[in-house]
Amino acid sequence: MAKSLTPIPYLFAILLLHVVSANSFAHPSLYNHFHKCLKKHTKPPSDQATISTILFAQSNVSYPSVLRNYIRNPRFNTSSTPKPSLIITPLHESHVQSTVICAKSVIPIQIKIRSGGHDYEGVSYISDEPFIILDLFNLRDVTVDAENGVTVIQASATRTLLLNREEKKNPRLPRRSLPHRRRRWPPQRRRVRQHAPARTLEQNAIDLVVQWQEVAPRVDDRLFMRLLVSPVSSATLRGQKTVRVSVVTLFLGSADELVTLLEKEFPVLGLNKKNCNELTWIQSVLWWASYNYTKPETLLDRRLNSADFLKRKSDYVQNPISRDRLEWIWKKMIELKSILFVFNPYGGRMSEISSDAMPFPHRAGDLFKIQYSVTWEEAGSVEKNYTTQAKMLYSYMTPFVSRNPRSAYLNYRDLDIGINTFGENSYEEGEVYGLKYFNDKFERLVKVKSEVDPENFFRNEQSIPVLPKKG
Ligand SMILES: Cc1cc2nc3c(=O)[nH]c(=O)nc-3n(C[C@H](O)[C@H](O)[C@H](O)COP(=O)(O)OP(=O)(O)OC[C@H]3O[C@@H](n4cnc5c(N)ncnc54)[C@H](O)[C@@H]3O)c2cc1C
Repeated sequence: MAKSLTPIPYLFAILLLHVVSANSFAHPSLYNHFHKCLKKHTKPPSDQATISTILFAQSNVSYPSVLRNYIRNPRFNTSSTPKPSLIITPLHESHVQSTVICAKSVIPIQIKIRSGGHDYEGVSYISDEPFIILDLFNLRDVTVDAENGVTVIQASATRTLLLNREEKKNPRLPRRSLPHRRRRWPPQRRRVRQHAPARTLEQNAIDLVVQWQEVAPRVDDRLFMRLLVSPVSSATLRGQKTVRVSVVTLFLGSADELVTLLEKEFPVLGLNKKNCNELTWIQSVLWWASYNYTKPETLLDRRLNSADFLKRKSDYVQNPISRDRLEWIWKKMIELKSILFVFNPYGGRMSEISSDAMPFPHRAGDLFKIQYSVTWEEAGSVEKNYTTQAKMLYSYMTPFVSRNPRSAYLNYRDLDIGINTFGENSYEEGEVYGLKYFNDKFERLVKVKSEVDPENFFRNEQSIPVLPKKG
């Protein structure tokens, strides 16, 4: 560990960090420490002026916007949300390395790392402990070394940026992998999106869900069919609520092929060719991102400081849910009013990979993943109503989803399923959420973590704990 402070100021810094509250951490000594320490450890050395541009103390006029720009859930953008003592925005890799070295010398400061800020629970930019943010938004470069077949993608690069750069730097790439040259794509690269009209309970929506469960996880690998369920006002029964079900599809092939396939496999959907649109790959990306009819460059817009209030939870389903159980679930959704379900089918390529091949364990055996989704627009006390709906529906679903463990999807971060306080019971606390996210891979991840970061320096509310110390 680098010793960048002389003993007396170092002791002072430790004392200071122990006695002050998290919000009063913007003491100049912390800023000065990082300023000097980053300058010393960056290679090649960075000048004072450069360091000043990447270091944001709370007193810096740009601090609020730098913090806010990549907050993707405004639930965590209130005056009472804990704020970092400093934000460091590296311009190159050595700034990242030196930030880690410098943070390690100011125990017990916690380091939070933010790439895109999309963590549903704000884990990348809030903490109950005193903390700093290592914000990687400047590190978005994509370097293509075509000669050696190596592409380096920095943490904050997006998929569109990647394709943009690849096209510019490597004109020898096969045309079919380029996003904007529709006419040169061979016909088999066509994609079809399908959006058959939504159905309500009065229109036998339940038949759609029953058949979808049988078909979506095992149908042709070129077909992805997402099912959306939401409570809405009934158009036919005045003053009553119903449930609306829709199926959104992406198919790698032609519209004719898709219609023929679904007529055979999923007749209840009643797909018509007029519900299909043939697209290039990049157009399909725009469509999934809800940017219909815009230029691909729109995807490069990072839409800073724009997001909805949200709460998400997840589950995995391993056995089809029967018709009468679905009816009961819809009743509960209608009572709750605002919560939606997104069912994402598994199967396909996922089921060909053995569940112990990689840390991501949800593969063969899972029929589909459920996202519980609740989104709202106003701050304040309404939040409790929405988050309670998510918790209640999750509780109602207990008999119908995976168990021992009840699995969850890491990308849909949900702190309700357990958090770690990193005290004496850290391992047991980690097991609660770790088994849900990683199933039996949890133990292996604990072993790796114990080897590479035995001091548990890199930690968050749901990180992998280290093995308990013997004796
Ligand atoms: C509007 C919205 C839509 C979404 N849609 C989907 C979807 O369709 N499918 C899906 O799977 N997920 C979806 N997500 C979830 C999203 O994929 C995950 O939250 C993902 O982790 C976001 O990555 P990020 O870099 O933006 O997140 P961040 O919030 O920056 O980071 C997420 C976690 O990774 C850590 N981290 C970040 N960078 C690094 C690094 N370089 N090194 C080590 N740790 C790091 C952070 O500390 C944090 O714990 C969505 C999220 C939002 C807000």
